[in-house]
Amino acid sequence: MSAASLPARADVVIVGGGIVGCSIAYHLTKIGITNVVVLERKQLTSGTTWHAAGLVGQLRATRNLTELAKYTTTLFEGLEKETGQATGFKQNGSISLALNEGRLEELLRGASMAKNFGLAIDVLSLGELKERLPHYNFEGVTGGVFLPKDGQVNPIDVTQALAAGARSRGGKVFENVKVTRILTKDGRACGVETTSGTIAADKVVVAGGMWSRDLGRSVGVNIPLHACEHFYIVSEPIDTLPRNMPVVRVPDECTYYKEDAGKLMVGAFEPKAKPWPPHGKGIGIDEEHAFVTLQEDMDHFEPILTSAINRVPLLETAGIQLFFNGPESFTPDVRYYLGEAPELRDLYVATGFNSIGIQSSGGAGLVLSQWIKDGHPPMDVNGIDIRRIHPFQSVTRYVHDRASESLGLLYAMHWPYRQAETSRGVRRSPIHQYTDRLGAVYGEVNGWERPNWYARDGVKREYEYSYGRQNWFPCAQYEADRLMNDVVFFDQASFAKYHVEGTDALAVLNRVSANSIDVPVGKVVYTQWLNERGGIEADLTVTRLAEQKFLVVTGAAPQTRDMAWLKRQTGDRNCVAVDITSGLPMIAIMGPKSRALLQKVSGADLSNAAFPFATSQEIEIGYARVRASRLTYVGELGWELYVPAEFAAHVMETLLAAGAEFNLTPAGMHSMNNARMEKGYRHWGHDMSDEETPLEAGLGFGVAWDKPGGFIGREALLRQREIKVLPKRMVAIALDDNGPSAPMMYHEEPVYRNGVIVGSTTSGAWGHRVGRSLALAYVKAEAGVSADWLASGTWEVELAWKKYPAKVQFAPFYDPKGLKIKE
Ligand SMILES: Cc1cc2nc3c(=O)[nH]c(=O)nc-3n(C[C@H](O)[C@H](O)[C@H](O)COP(=O)(O)OP(=O)(O)OC[C@H]3O[C@@H](n4cnc5c(N)ncnc54)[C@H](O)[C@@H]3O)c2cc1C
Repeated sequence: MSAASLPARADVVIVGGGIVGCSIAYHLTKIGITNVVVLERKQLTSGTTWHAAGLVGQLRATRNLTELAKYTTTLFEGLEKETGQATGFKQNGSISLALNEGRLEELLRGASMAKNFGLAIDVLSLGELKERLPHYNFEGVTGGVFLPKDGQVNPIDVTQALAAGARSRGGKVFENVKVTRILTKDGRACGVETTSGTIAADKVVVAGGMWSRDLGRSVGVNIPLHACEHFYIVSEPIDTLPRNMPVVRVPDECTYYKEDAGKLMVGAFEPKAKPWPPHGKGIGIDEEHAFVTLQEDMDHFEPILTSAINRVPLLETAGIQLFFNGPESFTPDVRYYLGEAPELRDLYVATGFNSIGIQSSGGAGLVLSQWIKDGHPPMDVNGIDIRRIHPFQSVTRYVHDRASESLGLLYAMHWPYRQAETSRGVRRSPIHQYTDRLGAVYGEVNGWERPNWYARDGVKREYEYSYGRQNWFPCAQYEADRLMNDVVFFDQASFAKYHVEGTDALAVLNRVSANSIDVPVGKVVYTQWLNERGGIEADLTVTRLAEQKFLVVTGAAPQTRDMAWLKRQTGDRNCVAVDITSGLPMIAIMGPKSRALLQKVSGADLSNAAFPFATSQEIEIGYARVRASRLTYVGELGWELYVPAEFAAHVMETLLAAGAEFNLTPAGMHSMNNARMEKGYRHWGHDMSDEETPLEAGLGFGVAWDKPGGFIGREALLRQREIKVLPKRMVAIALDDNGPSAPMMYHEEPVYRNGVIVGSTTSGAWGHRVGRSLALAYVKAEAGVSADWLASGTWEVELAWKKYPAKVQFAPFYDPKGLKIKE
């Protein structure tokens, strides 16, 4: 369409004519939003899309992301018929091969997950694999899985088909129109300025591929991504190559193989990638960039090619027709970005596709279009929600350095507890020097270095990964023993904290919280924040500091998200929320001797009468004044100490000096996670999301049904309360096997009742105080999930294609009555 016919206004303007932008336009027009404009600075697909390999896989790390990838395949199946535009869609399936036992376990665990998600998958014997892949060398292969519904497409044709679909319903697509500025008014995006004029819009979508970061930054929106060079080669035609060859992945050799018009394509996800541009001084992508091919780098690709020739000996004589190198965006956590930006209303983002943009395009378009229409996502997409990002993550050097690792992670081993190796040491607790001295082994969350465990008794101070008990198991056992019998401290500086105050602070927070916040000063309230559908948007505590002043404490990961949610509900009322995370670290003192220790250092009366559970007071420790809140996430007597940052080292020293007498021991985040699993304490992002309600999550005790003014989500919850026995409920699971080789549960494992899959684990860990492999899970039953239904079933959990008998109940496995907390 000619730029001269640019409209003055549109309902939605989409910046970027790659596969993602066109998919969003396609899906918006499909749900009735037809006044949609796509603006492409050059030609459609000229960014990254044109050179994609076109692999379309379906199995992702979570149920909903798998559903979206599955949907993409379904969309591609019918697109040619609908639009008349060929897409090159072929569904020959895909095979992944393992070259060692760890990888095989990964594939088998993935196969069980796939079964759980309703994906067709077969675990093949070596004989069956050889039959399907006669041209492959099977040296070192330990096994493999086959996904028959995986496929491949021609990305340029698919993009054109999506654009055609959008146009057929009234959407407009303009090429050679560059968006030079996003227009904003009153904290909202309201249009774009382009090289061919201005368009006013209700919503603007940034789908600009690797250019998105700069575009976002121009309006204060964080979109941390960086391009990397991404390589493949295409052989000369090979007569004997079967046209129905499935896509083959050999992740241990970082390679994938695809038949392409009689030629063999070999692509790579090498462990150390080359960020592009290489200098780390900003994206600064050339104005003229279109259909760009980067310089070949045979030295870099050579190890890949050598193993490819060994794996597919046909390649040795076939000759290479094309050596391809093109840029693609990568994100710090290798997950793409979708949704409304927390910094700017009506600005939506769909970018950072980490080399799976083709297979994600359908699902991303589907979700974002509905998000735009309804103002909220149609399902839990927390893993890809742009609100998971912290502002520092778009710092150039951080994304540049991390991108070199992100690319390789696509095929690296996805070990449990795996930690990033690049861009580390970014955010440190004020007591970092002490935890370091005590042997902490750190993990990273949003840049925070958090002690995950403490090395002791000769255990090396680094992770040795496996799917079973990792090297830190005995260290975690020691920490759990001290937690149960003595006293430990956790460095929880990373937990996000906000001060909320103003003459309307109580009214705002009380409406946002499902529990009652109108409590006496000094009371701590555990609550969820719900959406209108009753789904859990946040899970946190609120402490009333004064009549109209509150302290909100939430996890490290939702720091941006929870604040954005609160601000959206505040409107123009007199209620100011300030993020004080950096200034207020927290040290948690937990265990039966915590009272004695804290009384010694503070002189305060911490008895049940003077300091009841779920209350908060200022106490003195050494020369400092700190806020102590009697709470626990680990199921023992304990206090959380909120210490102004500059006093934290002194308070830590005071505690350590006094602690020897009580056997005070440092404990890490893994111990905290293990302990909360034993207590059945839910974790937002794993065990609950905006899809689950407090009633389903078993958190109905925290709902103040009849408080004056109600709360967001009450009507939906009231409707659900009418159903006496809910068809979906969270349960606690313990495997029967408690021996040394008992397997670990992690997430998304299928849960069977009487041989039928009825649910899925959401998180799992070893319970060191109960000596069992534990998980939380949602189970479903049409007639309702009751205690009788749980007790009358025979339960199993499938792990790596094998079923294990289990016990399933509503109550937690450790101290179910909560007596220890109130000792
Ligand atoms: C070698 C290689 C192989 C790959 N293989 C696969 C694969 O097998 N399977 C798979 O799923 N994925 C694959 N990918 C990844 C896939 O190609 C990308 O994830 C996908 O194309 C991203 O699409 P996009 O629409 O987000 O970005 P792009 O295709 O880059 O589109 C963004 C568009 O926005 C335009 N734009 C930017 N700024 C502006 C502006 N200010 N105004 C107007 N227009 C603007 C750009 O010109 C560009 O055309 C591969 C990538 C590479 C590099």
